[in-house]
Amino acid sequence: MWKNEALKALKNYFGYDKFRKGQEKAIENIMEGRDTFVIMPTGGGKSLCYQIPALLLEGITIVVSPLISLMKDQVDTLNNMGISSTYINSSLSREEIDEKILEIGENKYKIIYLAPERLETMQGIFKMLDIKISLVAIDEAHCISKWGHDFRPSYRKVQYFIELLEPRPRVLACTATATELVKQDIIDLLGLRNPGLYFTGFDRENLTFKVFRGENKERFILEYIQDKKEDSGIIYVATRNDGEKLYETLLKKNCRVGLYHAGLSEEKRKSMQEEFMYDNVNIMVATNAFGMGIDKSNVRYVIHHSVPKNLEAYYQEAGRAGRDGEPGECILLFNSGDVFTQRYFIDNSNTSPERKAQEYNTLRAMVDYCYTSKCLRAYILEYFGEEATFINCSNCSNCNGDVEEKDITTEAQMIFSCIYRVKERYGLNTVLDVLKGSQNQKILKLSLDKVSTYGLMKDYDRKYLEELTNKLIADGYIVMTNEEFPVLKLTTKAVNSLKNKEQVFVTVRKIKEVIKKKNDLFNILKATRKSISEELKLPPYIIFHDATLKELSTYMPATKEAFLNIKGVGENKFEKYGAQFLEVIKEYLEEKNLKPIDNINKEDEINEGIKKVKEKVKSHLQSYELYKQGLSLKEIAKQRELSLITVQSHIFDCVAEGLEINIEEFIPEGTENKILEAINEVGAAKLKAIKELLPEGVEYTAIKAVICKHHL
Ligand code: ADP
Ligand code: MG
Ligand code: ZN
Repeated sequence: MWKNEALKALKNYFGYDKFRKGQEKAIENIMEGRDTFVIMPTGGGKSLCYQIPALLLEGITIVVSPLISLMKDQVDTLNNMGISSTYINSSLSREEIDEKILEIGENKYKIIYLAPERLETMQGIFKMLDIKISLVAIDEAHCISKWGHDFRPSYRKVQYFIELLEPRPRVLACTATATELVKQDIIDLLGLRNPGLYFTGFDRENLTFKVFRGENKERFILEYIQDKKEDSGIIYVATRNDGEKLYETLLKKNCRVGLYHAGLSEEKRKSMQEEFMYDNVNIMVATNAFGMGIDKSNVRYVIHHSVPKNLEAYYQEAGRAGRDGEPGECILLFNSGDVFTQRYFIDNSNTSPERKAQEYNTLRAMVDYCYTSKCLRAYILEYFGEEATFINCSNCSNCNGDVEEKDITTEAQMIFSCIYRVKERYGLNTVLDVLKGSQNQKILKLSLDKVSTYGLMKDYDRKYLEELTNKLIADGYIVMTNEEFPVLKLTTKAVNSLKNKEQVFVTVRKIKEVIKKKNDLFNILKATRKSISEELKLPPYIIFHDATLKELSTYMPATKEAFLNIKGVGENKFEKYGAQFLEVIKEYLEEKNLKPIDNINKEDEINEGIKKVKEKVKSHLQSYELYKQGLSLKEIAKQRELSLITVQSHIFDCVAEGLEINIEEFIPEGTENKILEAINEVGAAKLKAIKELLPEGVEYTAIKAVICKHHL
């Protein structure tokens, strides 16, 4: 019964056709009157888990939320869809609150958002007004726990509030944090009664994760945003200073850019945030102070200008991309020097030695993420205690051929020997001066023009040499000391490479030609949305999501019926905005002499999707063909312009399919039994854990090969 109604409400108000993973089960549990605990990643769709029951249940739903800045936004969104709601928090004046209470008494609202500080007073008022409360939803429920990262003492009052209501309403807790300690705290401190637990897993399929080491950050960012002029993105920096600098640079390039950090006045921060929400600026340069309140759904990319303090923080910040389910990119630019900044923060924080030690550990895991050659998504999932169901996701820079390994042995050895010859006493600039054979004062005065490597690389571009050196730093061949005047020193890795003439590989970003399909209707619709947004003083994404505009520009509906078939369009929104958008589409069709597409054929889309999957499937067979011709994996990778890791996984896919491959050649002699023992101990899913149990030098390839050979 409730299910039909729920689906109807989903379509009519929200304009969606089906529930996402976990939503339906959670709603069912709530509808049956039980307490519920929902753990979904950011953007997973937690709000619907209480908004739909709120519509179906008699009486009202209370939503407790820590984010005052977000309440107005959420309430605007709901009212805009035709779900009458309101909020009470400290941003309102006495008079405004009194008025809202009157309206609550008249049963005007279905959903009421409350700040936790307001619970005590409101409890009495609900009692007095004899209001029936059927559901209390606690959003960001981890705020109740000291173990989480956003502890709010006022959240501790929630249980008292709930227990005093008569009859006790059902309770829903929502969070994106799932460590055991926090989970237990939430259940205990909210007094959840035998709650149904719905955990959807942390994977965000629409996000692509990328790590690039040793890039020139500024140049990377400027290049990256070139063809992203219409997209919203966030660039996270580690310090205010970095933020100011990058902001200035982007301003000078005429970017529409905002800046957000804790050093700005509250007023300034608020206006910057609003400019971003309303799409007036499309890039936000921010420190981690730009945080929880960011519910903008159409953020298309999140770039980390330097490494954050741990993966929890990283995944949360990066997770602000693609909340609307459309593709999003999460890029981390890594330089080993940035690790010093994070260490400095830890060293100078006011915490116990134990806590510091723990923070060093989590930072270590973050840095490992930047160096891992395995699937980045699998790495993240495993860090959060989830088993990844894939080895290769095709959707991260380690799996999709975004980076490739490049042999730079010759250049690296020249650089190493120069650092060695200047006795590891100079910084980057001086080393480069020597290699380039510079005649500057310092070099001459120090007689560095007499060392044997002087001018050794004079034909190389200086910028290129700098980049190479940075990559060698990022990959642990060279360290830059953490001093006022940092000097370059060789690690054992570099020394070994010099001594044994070992090859040096670095991963470099592959430059790809991207051919983009451009559809100008999308931009026209965006402009329409912008003007409505200004008129109504509502952020654009509250009117329609980007995904909705994208479908509109693809299907170009000309009738109400066709328009209602578009994702994200419900009856209410159609009433409000349908006419204006239909008009614009009609004009466009006439101007271009096109016919409307009345039959939205999502079938086509599905077929397209299947085709893509098939192409992907075929890809490993192409690698197989080359393998059969006797090419080595490296040669295959080169020829097909894929990363070595991708080709490896192709070959293992082929083994799994029973194709003829001599798997033994990937397993060095004498390692097989050791690998099997390690797998026995920790299971086959945790490659990293397996590797840690093995002697140095056993590569992931060998581990994967053994897993493959024994069908583990
Ligand atoms: P969370 O609170 O878990 O971070 P939200 O509740 O803000 O996520 O939802 C994120 C986005 O996903 C919103 O834009 C929402 O409209 C969209 N969404 C939620 N459920 C569905 C669904 N069943 N189908 C399509 N989109 C959905
Ligand atoms: Mg939420
Ligand atoms: Zn991957």
